[in-house]
Amino acid sequence: MSKPAAPGKPRPPRKTPAMPRAEVEPFIRALAAAYPDARSELDYSSPYTLLVAVVLSAQATDAGVNRATAGLFRAAATPAAMVALGVDGVAHHIRSIGLWQGKAKNVVELSRRLVEHHGGEVPAERAALEALPGVGRKTANVVLNVAFGQATMAVDTHIFRLGNRTGVAPGKNERAVEDALVKRIPPALLRDAHHWLILHGRYVCKARKPECWRCVAAQWCRFPDKSPPPR
Ligand code: SF4
Repeated sequence: MSKPAAPGKPRPPRKTPAMPRAEVEPFIRALAAAYPDARSELDYSSPYTLLVAVVLSAQATDAGVNRATAGLFRAAATPAAMVALGVDGVAHHIRSIGLWQGKAKNVVELSRRLVEHHGGEVPAERAALEALPGVGRKTANVVLNVAFGQATMAVDTHIFRLGNRTGVAPGKNERAVEDALVKRIPPALLRDAHHWLILHGRYVCKARKPECWRCVAAQWCRFPDKSPPPR
């Protein structure tokens, strides 16, 4: 039996049990119904501009990235044009977002490699994507999913939190949550589940306080400390 919290002290959070496998699909379908038009909130017009936007989105909001890329992509929307723009030219457009100096260098260098090794095209292959500067597993997963229709799961801060908080895919690190989601979500739902989970984490199952009282998936969620409606 768990010890009662000391008087005046908040009860420590309780551990979420894993969601039973049979409940994963109805949980995901409830999110699908809530977010029927789910798509990436980053602005892009090609696999290349998507790749650049995702590289820029580390430690920045999608809205902040969209403000920066509006001008950047007007100046350069292809790898060759980005190389011609150069690091200082890219930096001029992205100074408002976090880590802009390193990101400007990565964007120009990855563009140079696309021109030199991939005919100016974004490769639809994980190893080739992850070999580009500034591109890790998460970025590759987003590009493979959104630009090339592959059933990948990019685990960002929202998806990592939801995987553990709801019990849908418990895991100690991002890779463990990714593997659990890929294993447990039916293949036909996996590609779009990425967007549904992110939107739910952003707007309802928020980091500091989930809004469980208005959650469409509450009946399947295993979070033991669901929040009541505000008084
Ligand atoms: S019930 Fe609460 S914790 Fe569970 S998914 Fe919904 S908002 Fe998140």
